[in-house]
Amino acid sequence: MTPLADRHGRRFPYLRLSLTPACNFRCTYCLPHGYQAENGVAGPLSLDEITRLLRGFAELGMHKVRLTGGEPSVRRDLTAVLRTVAALPSVKKLAMTTNGTLLSRRLHEWMDAGLNAINVSVDSLDRATFARITGHDRLDDILHGVDMALAAGLPAVKLNAVLLRDVNDAELPRWLDYLREHAVGLRFIELMQTGDNLAFFRDHHVRAETLEERIRDAGWQALPRAADAGPAREYQHPDYAGRIGIIAPYSKDFCAGCNRLRITATGDLRLCLFGEFGIPLRQHLQRDDQLEDLVRAVGGQIGRKEQGHFLHQGRTGITPHLASTGG
Ligand code: SAM
Repeated sequence: MTPLADRHGRRFPYLRLSLTPACNFRCTYCLPHGYQAENGVAGPLSLDEITRLLRGFAELGMHKVRLTGGEPSVRRDLTAVLRTVAALPSVKKLAMTTNGTLLSRRLHEWMDAGLNAINVSVDSLDRATFARITGHDRLDDILHGVDMALAAGLPAVKLNAVLLRDVNDAELPRWLDYLREHAVGLRFIELMQTGDNLAFFRDHHVRAETLEERIRDAGWQALPRAADAGPAREYQHPDYAGRIGIIAPYSKDFCAGCNRLRITATGDLRLCLFGEFGIPLRQHLQRDDQLEDLVRAVGGQIGRKEQGHFLHQGRTGITPHLASTGG
């Protein structure tokens, strides 16, 4: 095994795999009109293709996988995917990002299949605001699913909240009340511009650092970052069961800590969420004896990974919305 490294000295133990571009929510900043299937686009990777893909990445040092989408739980064979991925000896951590609509119903099935970390998107703790952002009045059931995950002892339970000016950016006190009792890792994510959301971005983008300062002023202490950790700067406080993470993609040096690569639902490698191109890998996933071709194809492309994204210049690459790439 030769760990993959790019020309900026970064390693990539972490792979984010999109299981489908489809989503059942209509989040204002992502798919405000809901998911629209495109004609003539290939279907998502099959279980066999996923297995071959991950065997190849194992050769390159990957040991953490996050399943995402679109919404991974709209895929009917999700439990089988989880079981298959968890059974790969190289996969030490299997995480999933979900909107949580099936969490309360499927949690135990997913945990039995091998899921050991979950991120649930909860953009607001206010029921009406949540419904306005997502298009679905499902907050109570989703929070019930989160409580179930904590009670069941799922090793990592995180919540994602995208910060939106004049929509949910005054909810810190409410979140602090929640974190007193709930041992979750809350991530405040700064809204990112994508190909489709420029007008929305202009109206609702707010710097995460502003919130981070308030958290620090309230006595929260920064934690050291693990090698396979996600992009958040994490904080803890002795009076709270939960932690807070800040994901600030526009902050200086955000990309210096990049340790992940992405695979779209149809098997394209994306070196960056906001890159200008995808590298099709599906042709290397058709037979078990193609492992070397796959490893060579990935190894041969990693040198094209840029040092940073170009979001500050408004360049969003080929990503119309995060559901398309796997956020
Ligand atoms: N459907 C799943 C979910 O709701 O978590 C997984 C996919 S979703 C694209 C992954 C994460 O990306 C969610 O937490 C979502 O809120 C976040 N996201 C989507 N578009 C974003 C944007 N433009 N800026 C920041 N975060 C975004």
